[in-house]
Amino acid sequence: MTCAVALADIRSARDRIANKVERTPTVHSQNLSQHLGVPVYLKLEHRQTTGSFKLRGASNAVASLSAEEKARGVVAASTGNHGRALAHAAKLEGMRAVICMSRLVPGNKLDDIRRLGAEIRIVGNSQDDAQQEVERLVTQEGLVMLPPFDHPAVIAGQGTLGLEMIEQVPEAALVLVPLSGGGLASGIAAAIKGVGPRTKIIGVSMARGAAMKASLDAGKPVLVEELPTLADSLGGGIGLDNRLTFAMCRDLLDDVILLSEEEISDGIRHAYAREREIVEGAGAVGIAALLAGKVTVSGPVVVLLSGRNIDMGLHRTIICGDAPSAAEHAA
Ligand SMILES: *Cc1c(COP(=O)(O)O)cnc(C)c1O
Repeated sequence: MTCAVALADIRSARDRIANKVERTPTVHSQNLSQHLGVPVYLKLEHRQTTGSFKLRGASNAVASLSAEEKARGVVAASTGNHGRALAHAAKLEGMRAVICMSRLVPGNKLDDIRRLGAEIRIVGNSQDDAQQEVERLVTQEGLVMLPPFDHPAVIAGQGTLGLEMIEQVPEAALVLVPLSGGGLASGIAAAIKGVGPRTKIIGVSMARGAAMKASLDAGKPVLVEELPTLADSLGGGIGLDNRLTFAMCRDLLDDVILLSEEEISDGIRHAYAREREIVEGAGAVGIAALLAGKVTVSGPVVVLLSGRNIDMGLHRTIICGDAPSAAEHAA
């Protein structure tokens, strides 16, 4: 099978971004290991600079631009973490960055991106509306579009996480990866299956608006209704004109698991109370899938904690045990 992004691309990405991102630790979880009866490890990528793995893809994409493209500046649509990462990566390169986002994006994420030095445009009620504004800026102002997942340099950058995980836990039988547009899962699966094809990779999404799962089931990219969810970083479609991540997820993922909002809040609560880690909803889905008993395990498991950019008021509500409705969260 040939993939749009191969192991060699991911290895070059790692060299390119080595001094721009952290190599995050992987730790053994005593609690989850006892609970599951197999060794469970947590990859603490929520501690990455800017609070999510998105810095890997953004840094690799920005560093891969020509001098002429760097002079024009970059633009992206983002539900938060990609925008934040791109703002940081562009600033390091001394470049202009414009971030377009929909009104569903929580205020804390917006402020952070502005503070990182990017210009912000708020457009429409969906990721697709924000994407249209990106295309306008590309055509009318000559900015270079760097999308959050469907781009070879972004996928290769996210794939560097796969290399780290398999080096940190070479005996891993299963890796659980949060799944939205699929750049993260595609990159990690290409890396890990490139190194040792026996490790299974399972994607985990929220049941409310799981675009990749619906697309895989349909056999082609489809639109799903975008709904507020505790895993807000997993919101948004995969694009009807998806070029890379749909095929990669179809060919490389062993399964996709969907979670209820209650299961996701259990994951956030467990991460805090038992593992002493503050993670956002999207970052907690791997833990949540294990706690919900939705994964069959037969050997060592690595769970990727992908981000920590949660509103702290919401986090407090969740850990105090009052399950907030997704609608409350979005309000
Ligand atoms: C973007 C994001 C994801 C999903 O990544 P995709 O490449 O879109 O599948 C998961 N977790 C967090 C914290 C994210 O920001």
